Amino acid sequence: MNMEISRRSFLKGAGAGVAATTLGAFGFGEAEAAFVEGLRPYKLAGTTETRNTCPYCSVACGVIIYSKGDISQGTAEAIHLEGDVDHPTNRGTLCPKGAALLDFIKAETRLMNPKVRRPGSNAFEEISWDEAIEGIARHMKDDRDANLIERNMDGVPVNRWTTTGFLAASATTNETAFLTYKAVRSAGMVAFDNQARV
Ligand code: SF4
Repeated sequence: MNMEISRRSFLKGAGAGVAATTLGAFGFGEAEAAFVEGLRPYKLAGTTETRNTCPYCSVACGVIIYSKGDISQGTAEAIHLEGDVDHPTNRGTLCPKGAALLDFIKAETRLMNPKVRRPGSNAFEEISWDEAIEGIARHMKDDRDANLIERNMDGVPVNRWTTTGFLAASATTNETAFLTYKAVRSAGMVAFDNQARV
């Protein structure tokens, strides 16, 4: 029998076939498979979409995190995550590490607060974000005041700060990268890097 099949209906049929085969492989019978397929469109209903960036590598793929609950109250829970189709870097795709980000978000070992290991101590101690930021600023200021090289041997102003380094993130926006670069270099810092080595 000859049949006219449009490209759209062919793709739709092929997609349904793949889905049914996949569900079958997971042990679903025909009725259960139909039930699961019926639920699929509602999986993300009522969720909040939040755009973010995969933190793993320097490719910096865009992700959309779907959460349920009140984000403003800090009670939302991430329930699903996928590549952002509007993101210019990955156009919706994610590598296996990025696709498994939900486990990273929910990991029991995930670091949620800053920690410090004080001089002479062998243990990390949890501190507040304010304490961490103030402590870092204090250490940077003291170190710069003590070690800034203002002039070279010929008396030419160079303003080099060589005793502290800065590790930035390549997964930021161009604007953030520009501001980070300006802040770090204008302080005279020489050692400046990120995970993409750019
Ligand atoms: S999804 Fe993969 S390629 Fe993209 S940023 Fe994350 S780890 Fe890198």
